[in-house]
Amino acid sequence: MLFKVRDEKAFTLFEVLFILLITSIIVAIAFPLLGGTAVNARLRNCQANLRTIDGAINQYHAEHDAYPSDINALVASGFLRASPECPHTKLKDYSLSNQHDRGVCSQGHEIP
Ligand SMILES: [Zn+2]
Repeated sequence: MLFKVRDEKAFTLFEVLFILLITSIIVAIAFPLLGGTAVNARLRNCQANLRTIDGAINQYHAEHDAYPSDINALVASGFLRASPECPHTKLKDYSLSNQHDRGVCSQGHEIP
């Protein structure tokens, strides 16, 4: 026999390409959504760190009647356990504003 009879149990090339097309469309939709979720989670974590720093500044001000000179003053006086790390850079990127009344992230993250 010159031509092989088509085996009905196997997939045709068209069927395999169609499945690859559908799979690639699903992956193309899912990955940007998952990536955006991770970025949002890191931003929320940074904002939580800023709120913690602001709370520590308020406690420091209530006790000393002055604002702390820097983040290390908050740690040294026990209002912060340690200087937090921004989840975007994994570095201790926080400092105090010019008036020393709130925390600032060097990556530009802010509390909404
Ligand atoms: Zn940050």
